[in-house]
Amino acid sequence: MATKLIHGCGVALLIIMGLFLSAAAQEPLPQVSYYVDDSGQQRFEDVSVLPNSAWSSSEASGLSFGYTSNPYWFRMTLPAASYERVLRIGYPLLDRIDAYFVINGEVVQQQVLGDSFPFAQRQVSNRNFVLPVQQQEPVELYLRVETSSSMRVPLSLWKPTDLMAEEQGLNTATALYFGLLLCMIVFNLFSYTVARDRRFVYYSAYIVAIGLLLASLDGTGYQYLWPWFPWLQSKAVAVFGSIVFFFASSVASQVLQTETRSPPLHRGLQAIMVAALVLLLLALILPYAVMINVVLLVAIVASSFLIFTGATLWRQGLAYARIYTLALSVLLVAIIINAIGYLGFFESFFIQRYLIMIGSAVEILLLSLVLALRSNEARQERLEAEQRLNSRLEVKVKQRTSELEAVMRKLKQVNEHLEVKSTQDKLTKLYNRGVLDEELPLEVRRARRTGYDLALVIIDIDYFKQINDKFGHQVGDEVLAELARLLRVNFRRAGDRIFRYGGEEFIVLMPGAQELGCHDKVLTVTEVIRGHTFKTGRGEVKITVSVGMALLNSLPGHASSKQLLEAADNALYQAKNAGRDQIRIARSLNDVSEKP
Ligand code: GH3
Ligand code: MG
Ligand code: MG
Repeated sequence: MATKLIHGCGVALLIIMGLFLSAAAQEPLPQVSYYVDDSGQQRFEDVSVLPNSAWSSSEASGLSFGYTSNPYWFRMTLPAASYERVLRIGYPLLDRIDAYFVINGEVVQQQVLGDSFPFAQRQVSNRNFVLPVQQQEPVELYLRVETSSSMRVPLSLWKPTDLMAEEQGLNTATALYFGLLLCMIVFNLFSYTVARDRRFVYYSAYIVAIGLLLASLDGTGYQYLWPWFPWLQSKAVAVFGSIVFFFASSVASQVLQTETRSPPLHRGLQAIMVAALVLLLLALILPYAVMINVVLLVAIVASSFLIFTGATLWRQGLAYARIYTLALSVLLVAIIINAIGYLGFFESFFIQRYLIMIGSAVEILLLSLVLALRSNEARQERLEAEQRLNSRLEVKVKQRTSELEAVMRKLKQVNEHLEVKSTQDKLTKLYNRGVLDEELPLEVRRARRTGYDLALVIIDIDYFKQINDKFGHQVGDEVLAELARLLRVNFRRAGDRIFRYGGEEFIVLMPGAQELGCHDKVLTVTEVIRGHTFKTGRGEVKITVSVGMALLNSLPGHASSKQLLEAADNALYQAKNAGRDQIRIARSLNDVSEKP
């Protein structure tokens, strides 16, 4: 995009130069004599009687004498013509011009011009000074010029229509130039609103200041911006010049990042900014004649320092410092050439009119490119920093997550352990009574829902107390644990669950069992127990068990879980009463029978 922009502006510059080359023809102007009034007191009456030897002669277009506070007198004879003509004094900053038209020693017309009078009161609205020359016979013209700026009096004689044609080109070029500046200002302010990068605002301010300085120098500022303020006109160059250097330094420090890249250069730029502010204040107070020398001095020092800064950072390898230095050099070369002209060493209409415009246009475009590059780089840096931060954050989050997961795993284990602990009988590792109390009602409801039967079997060791008494409690424990193992091994059909119900009482829940199969199973188990030799620390032990069972579907009506348990318990009681080592099945809540 930047290259397109530069391309477009290059075309605009070519148009400007084309306009310059098509300058219209001017009327021939005779040799001009000039006389310097060292006293500053002489009036027309004194000067008009001076001998010819007091006057020097020069080309009309090349009257340039540098900075001087002495009034200059110019004398020329305009030939007779049968058409209207105008004399243009092509330098807009002259303070006061007194014009005397003389025929046969008589002053026939007198006129006062200059930028110390409000522009709005001019007879001919032109940013330079234009004097109508109407006489049909030869006329002698005396000009007394006094100015605190450069004594530059380029004279040219025109037919009004030719002057219009010539100035149209100049005006168009000027309009193009200021149009370009306006575009750049708006563009940079837009860039600011989008990127929120304050550099764009400073750069816009810099372009505004450059524009105002150029408008002061070529008279358009006085013509269009402050035609009622001769006071401002008398200060404009110094005031806007100071502002230009203030923002030039500010933009340089931001674009070249001197604060981080080179603190000494940064301090230098800050010093220039301070100097520019002081200069601005002084410019408002002190007369231009005093100020202009200081302004020029500061301009030379500041420009050199800016170039030096750019070149130093360029050498340090900052890519866009090269473009920056190039941009500034273009403008400075233009200014230096122009300043040499102001000092009176030569006079060129092209240089005076176009060089600074072209130079500053090129500079502004190149700087804008630099700014865009820098802003983009800054955005990139921010993005990268953000990414770095993000990835660091990600690592942290991952770390924390895995830590959290470890804790969760641990917690789950502990929970599982706790749950087992709370549901398990410690000695036998079977489900404890608490689990039975919870599960039994659920099993009963499930059996009702599905229609399958549910068998509840209570197994109680016979004369267990005697084992304890004979061998000790420890052996009793060993027998209990071994019996639990036997039960686990034998009741292993899916859905069978074994609980330690009391001291030496066990309950087996057998969902979906049929009475016959259930009885056979229990019978087998009692036989296994009877045949098993319990090997303990105190020797071998043999036991038998008594069993009471109840089947849900064999009980009348809708027996509850509690009734089912009671029925099985009754059956066990019957088995014990009947001599132990046998199985009883409950038929009703009271009636139990030995066989199905
Ligand atoms: P019965 O044939 O009538 O069942 O006689 P029994 O001695 O087995 O029954 P009783 O209910 O009179 O005695 C049960 C004994 O079981 C009492 C107690 O000392 C013993 N016991 C209960 N829990 C444990 C235990 O955890 N470890 C040991 N070693 N003995 C226990
Ligand atoms: Mg017992
Ligand atoms: Mg018992």
